[in-house]
Amino acid sequence: MPGPSSPHLLEGTLTGVRDGGRGHHIDLRRFVTDLVAAAGGIVETPEDDILHVALPGEMARKVSLPEFTVLAFGYDAAKETPEAEFVTFGSPVLDRLTSLGIQLGRVTRQYAVVPSVRVPPNLMDRIEAKIGFNRSRRPALRTANIEVYERAVFRFVVSYISDERFVEALMVAVDTSTLADDTDLLDEARGVYFSPQPPQGAGNRIADGSSPPAVVRRHSYDEVVRKAVACLRARARPRLAVYQAEVRGYCEKELTTVLGFYEKTMADLIARRDAATGDPDKKARIDAKIEACRLDRERRIADVVGKYKMTAHARLDSVTLQVMPRVKALLEVEHKDSIYAQPVYYNLATNAVEPLACPRCGRRFFSAYPARDGLFVCRPEEAE
Ligand SMILES: [Zn+2]
Repeated sequence: MPGPSSPHLLEGTLTGVRDGGRGHHIDLRRFVTDLVAAAGGIVETPEDDILHVALPGEMARKVSLPEFTVLAFGYDAAKETPEAEFVTFGSPVLDRLTSLGIQLGRVTRQYAVVPSVRVPPNLMDRIEAKIGFNRSRRPALRTANIEVYERAVFRFVVSYISDERFVEALMVAVDTSTLADDTDLLDEARGVYFSPQPPQGAGNRIADGSSPPAVVRRHSYDEVVRKAVACLRARARPRLAVYQAEVRGYCEKELTTVLGFYEKTMADLIARRDAATGDPDKKARIDAKIEACRLDRERRIADVVGKYKMTAHARLDSVTLQVMPRVKALLEVEHKDSIYAQPVYYNLATNAVEPLACPRCGRRFFSAYPARDGLFVCRPEEAE
C-alpha cells in the first residue's frame, strides 16, 4: 500500500502516475475532452494519452487554436508523436484552452459589486487590529493604493478508490497576482455579491475620482493552475492518509483470516506427509500439494493487498475567477537595525484585512516574526 507521501501524488504529468497505478493524478485529459465537447468540437482517442481534437472554426480562432490539433497528455506519448502538442502544467496550449473555458462558461469570471471603493480612513487601525509584528517597532504606512485583482477558485472532484470508491469536492483558491493560497479566505467572501458583468458607471470606481482602479498584473493561468494543484495536493494528502489508515485496518483483518486458513491447511498437509514416510509416491503427491498451497497463499495475499490499495484521482470540475478591489498597503517595519517592507492587503469586497502568506510554508498567518532575510514568516522556527 502506498504511503501518504507517495511521490505520485498529483504529479504535474499524468501518465507516469497512471502507470504507477497509485497516488493522485489530476485528469487534464478529461478536462480538455469535456471542454471540447462543450465547444461543439469532436474528440477522438486513437491511443491512450493522445487526443485528436477538431474545433468549430469560429471557436478555434477566438482562442488562437488551430481547428485540428493533436494533443499529448504524457511525456512518452508526446515524444512518440512529434506532431502532438504536449498538454501539461507549463505548456502554452493549456493557457489557450483555459481561455476557451472562459468563452464557454466552464471558467466564469465574476465581479464583486462594491458600492464605495476607497481607502478606509482608519486603515492602519484595521491592519494593526489583525496583524501583529513580533519583536518589531510599530509599523508605518508608506503607501496605500487601490488595485483590482482576480482570485481563481478551482473546484476539484477527488475520487478515492480502493475496492470501493467515493468522491468529494475540494475547493482551492489562488490569488492570481501573488500566487498566494486564498482557500482559507473563501468563507469570508460568501457574503459578497458578484455580478457576471464588469462594473459600469459609478460602480467600483474610486470614490473620489472618476477612473476605475488599475487591474493588477496577474501571473499566467498556467502558473495559477500549477499553484492550485500544489494547494490541492497539500489538502488532499492528509485526507488520503486518513482513508488509507482506515482501509489498512480492513486489509489487516482480512489478511489475518487468509493467513489463518493457510496456516491450518499447511499444518494438515505437513502432518499427512510426515505420516507417509513408508510411501514415497504418496509423499511426493503431498509435497506437490504443499507447493501448490504455498503459491496459492502468495496469490491470495497479493489479491487482498491489491484490493485494499487506495488511490486518489482529481478532476478539475470548474473555475471561477472572482474580480475584487482591494487596498495594497505598503508597511515599513523596523526590527533591530533593519527596515522590513511588507505589503498588506485590505479586501474592499469583504472589508477584511488579508492574513499574510508565509514565504516559507505558504500558510496564512496574522502573527509575524522577522526573519534574517528581510521577510516576515509565520513561526519563530522559520525565522532562523
Ligand atoms: Zn510559515
